[in-house]
Amino acid sequence: MTDLLLELGKRPFVRKLVASAGLPMPMPEALPRPKGPSVERFLEGKTVRVAGEGALGAALANLLPRAGATTLTATAALAATIGSKAEAYGRVVRPLTAADSESTDKVHALILDATALARPADLRLLYTFFHDHVRSLARGGRVVLLGRPSDTATTLAQAATEGALDGFTRSLAKEIGGKGATANLVLVEPGAEMRVEAVLRFLLSSASAFVTAQPLRVSAEASWDNRDPWEKPLAQKVVLVTGAARGIGEATARMLASEGAHVVCLDRPEDDEPLSHVAREIGGTPLTADVSDPEAGVQIALELKRLHGGVDIVVHNAGVTRDRTLARMQESGWDQTININLAAILHITETLLQTGALRDNGRVVSLSSIAGIAGNMGQTNYAASKSGVIGFTRYLAKQTKARGITVNAIAPGFIETRMTAAVPMMIREAGRRLSALGQGGLPEDVARAITFMALPGSAGVTGQVLRVCGGALIGA
Ligand code: NAD
Repeated sequence: MTDLLLELGKRPFVRKLVASAGLPMPMPEALPRPKGPSVERFLEGKTVRVAGEGALGAALANLLPRAGATTLTATAALAATIGSKAEAYGRVVRPLTAADSESTDKVHALILDATALARPADLRLLYTFFHDHVRSLARGGRVVLLGRPSDTATTLAQAATEGALDGFTRSLAKEIGGKGATANLVLVEPGAEMRVEAVLRFLLSSASAFVTAQPLRVSAEASWDNRDPWEKPLAQKVVLVTGAARGIGEATARMLASEGAHVVCLDRPEDDEPLSHVAREIGGTPLTADVSDPEAGVQIALELKRLHGGVDIVVHNAGVTRDRTLARMQESGWDQTININLAAILHITETLLQTGALRDNGRVVSLSSIAGIAGNMGQTNYAASKSGVIGFTRYLAKQTKARGITVNAIAPGFIETRMTAAVPMMIREAGRRLSALGQGGLPEDVARAITFMALPGSAGVTGQVLRVCGGALIGA
């Protein structure tokens, strides 16, 4: 379904016309998206401005020059740490001066290491750095704040100060969303500093085009084999994607295959044809099953063991809606939704774990929804199933961390699929516009977020729910 405003907004003369006529018409900015699989030097030719004297200097030094960025900073400690690595990668670190805030040169990203902020007065750094530089942010640019989770604070003042980063980031995201730019907050637990790289690669790149105004926690909970290949990162990995015949599942299967994985594509027996087509195109294996069948767990586990000796990454994507207000809802509509969207995830995952089919350092990613976070009229069954996925994710993450298996959920907002094309026009328009980025996302945006969760380097992210919602105002 075409978004007319987004299409019109791609034409400079229409943007000019709307602006000069002073029309109160939102013109969403087309979001830059990656053209292919991930590359190591994803910041090649781009400039980033960095500030803050926190605990993440070494992690930033590991990442920025290697990713190809030119770094500008006024912080002596950062200049020294990043500078020590920059030469090896032929990159430049240059002092950030007052003239830079006046310059018309646009920068790709603004990064603030706020992990050392301990008192409310310290928050002034947020004001000065972003006040001076936010105008320099390019269209489709990135803001990333790095902080500590307030529940790891050692003083009351520190907890209050750390808590403030959340509201600041969400508000800034709304201010810069009109130019297709995003702002996100990374909350790094003490001891997890060197695990932040995968998160930064995702949030600083166009892979996270539809992720904004979100906090994401990084911990040292799950054991980590410290492998971080950034090109073909999923080579040798076996992946199961449920609901892979179309929509988000198909986009995810394609994305994971493009990153080197062998994908076992699962869908219902009646979808054998589109499923086999997808599997053939990506060199994967088709597998037909109804995930809500009580035998499905064992069937899937046996097939994965027989064909591939096991599985490394499981993406629970298959899902249905059976919308009705509660008083009008049929029992079957309730049961199908709970069984497919929630009970099947539980049952299949438990079977994969019990049979040993899910290997160490594995990844489990399940599809939740912002309806599961905010609730939605006519979706008591769907929202219950999708918030159930969040409960499942948080609990299981604790049980599997010793084996290095991470468990996360993705909560998409308004994504342009056949599901949302069927929504009445006014509701569809509201779904698109009531967000920081003012538009719907694409299945590939969700696929990129799932791929990020599936990486070996994402071991620091577990028990998390990441919204891929363009900064939707619902449930924010
Ligand atoms: P879709 O309807 O296009 O695709 C869902 C796939 O799941 C289909 O191929 C379907 O055949 C398969 N499936 C359904 N029941 C199954 C079963 N019992 N066994 C095996 N396969 C089954 O939906 P989509 O929009 O791509 O959504 C994918 C997931 O993302 C769902 O879990 C959905 O709830 C979630 N989600 C989507 C949106 C959105 O805006 N599209 C928003 C939030 C969450």
